Amino acid sequence: MRKTWIPAFAGMTISLGMTIVFAVAAKEVALDVGHYAAEPGVISASGIPEFEFNLALANEVKAELERHRVAVRLIGERGDYAVLHHRTRDARGADLFVSIHHDSVQERWLPQADRFAGFSLFISRQNPQLAKSLACASAIGAKLRGAGFTPSRYHADSVLGESRPFADEANGVHYYDNLAVARTATMASVLVEGGVLVNREEERRMRDPEVRGRIAAAVASGVRECLAKEP
Ligand SMILES: [Zn+2]
Repeated sequence: MRKTWIPAFAGMTISLGMTIVFAVAAKEVALDVGHYAAEPGVISASGIPEFEFNLALANEVKAELERHRVAVRLIGERGDYAVLHHRTRDARGADLFVSIHHDSVQERWLPQADRFAGFSLFISRQNPQLAKSLACASAIGAKLRGAGFTPSRYHADSVLGESRPFADEANGVHYYDNLAVARTATMASVLVEGGVLVNREEERRMRDPEVRGRIAAAVASGVRECLAKEP
């Protein structure tokens, strides 16, 4: 356990072991399942709506976090959140907002969709906790890379993507300032694109429970690492 926890709770009259458990258990993550039943997001190469991929991955991230005593507030899992700012409204009080998505490409690149692969992470400079948002996104990206995944990179490209500038190029983090779930959140916020569903091979990987488990473990590990850095 991290020694840095000790000074913050030094005045409490409980044992050190209890202190550590209390500190970890006090964190709560709002885990947002991207899209909803009526508008389920990207349609994958084989015809499956993104919402189903988002729900499956979010449920695994939730299980991973809860296994490590991080509380999770799941948002949108019933597919009934049509208004984006209701997601961040209902996340109030959480320490971090993490929105789970899967990616596509611009329509003109769909015929070449198999060229595009990898994860992407987005944060907004309009979020009130930009430094923490970046720290959490970087930690998630670093853990995903450590688990063998590669940042997609194309969102930063003016031709292939949308010229979204890098906030942390090595870890695949982009600025997306107008992103509703990052801009309207009162807490730090990160949007995760797990992989590119319109790429046939990547879609197969995203459907593989073993791959999904590794992505979920990496996301949860990055979240825990960045939350552990603050009292
Ligand atoms: Zn999406």
